Amino acid sequence: MKKVLFIFLVVVACGIAVAAIAQVTQKGNLSSEMIRVAIVRDAREAYLSIEGQYRLRDANTGKVVGQGLRLVRSRIRLLEKGILAGLDVYPVARLIIEPVRDASIIVNNHRFRGTVTLVRTGPHHITVVNGINLEDYVKGVLFHEVSNHWPMEALKAQAVATRTYALYSVNPASKDYDVTNDIYSQVYGGRESERYRTGLAVDRTAGEILVYQGKVLPTYFHATCGGMTEDAKELWPKIDLSPLRGVPCMFCQDSPHMHWKKNFRLRDIQLVLNKHGYKMGLMKDIGIVERDRSDRIKTLKITSRDGQELTISGKDFRDIVGPNALKSNNYEISMQGYYVDFVGKGWGHGVGLCQWGARGMALQQFTYKQILAYYYPGSQLMDYHDLLKSALPVKEENSAKPVTQVK
Ligand SMILES: [Zn+2]
Repeated sequence: MKKVLFIFLVVVACGIAVAAIAQVTQKGNLSSEMIRVAIVRDAREAYLSIEGQYRLRDANTGKVVGQGLRLVRSRIRLLEKGILAGLDVYPVARLIIEPVRDASIIVNNHRFRGTVTLVRTGPHHITVVNGINLEDYVKGVLFHEVSNHWPMEALKAQAVATRTYALYSVNPASKDYDVTNDIYSQVYGGRESERYRTGLAVDRTAGEILVYQGKVLPTYFHATCGGMTEDAKELWPKIDLSPLRGVPCMFCQDSPHMHWKKNFRLRDIQLVLNKHGYKMGLMKDIGIVERDRSDRIKTLKITSRDGQELTISGKDFRDIVGPNALKSNNYEISMQGYYVDFVGKGWGHGVGLCQWGARGMALQQFTYKQILAYYYPGSQLMDYHDLLKSALPVKEENSAKPVTQVK
């Protein structure tokens, strides 16, 4: 089964939908329904094919600078005179490739809907940006988050969470793109990641997002909470929102990630701590100092054989050891000589929607609206087009601050 992937660096953008959407509308000739996804970043070259008719446009002036019926796989590079695409060099800083009718654009063997823009990002580097309708973007993301075989109401709940999170992540500070296509945003695979049932879930919830007090809610989600979802501010103190304070969850019991166990050599943990700047000799013990309301670990104390003591937050410890090795922050520790066992529950940071819980609720006949209301209590469902119309003012205190999200 395709599963969620993990670390993501999120720019907590303005947080106000209107600001995000308005920003999108101001970018080049993109409309409010478009999102710009960086599919190749700062590369020396990329490969491009176009199956069908296309037009090339200078992104800065909007002028058509070329066209063609088909492009056989060609190398794209930056030359002194401009961008080399196919046999021609275009003396522009940003080149938009627009498909005519149903032409397919293929970049590095991946097929994309919408436009592709080649952007000069250094003396020898280009970034490739896919400009795509928000709904199509959600279709290209959903398959990477949940199985397309899951109950439809769970897929619909995830579609709303994914669409909302995409809008929330739009980064007004970035000139060239809103999100990346990797683990730093949401994993996006273009056309090849579309499946019939995930597409249906997107269509049946078209335009729907979650808001809280008139602003786009950062709809965090994770694979399995293991019994209770986490209060977002335990991980990111600035995200103090009532719908993200955590709820008990009895719906993810069937998740394969409900229970896990991981064994480490103490020496390996010591080495990784040293690598991250924590000076520590040979380890003797790791103890839990404090847990939070959801039972996740707030603070750990690590002692070394030479008597040093290190107090570290559960979040930092998991980041350092690796969020895939320590699947969650809810575990017991048992020392075994030169080894240590972590026996834990759940997978992911635990904030917001519990994906296996949503599946469990859908199997019990709850609707996607009930699922969303359960995991994001107090939030409201609305069409983002209406939010755009209502044009709320942007507040300064919500301006961008980068936050590391570990799933
Ligand atoms: Zn759960």
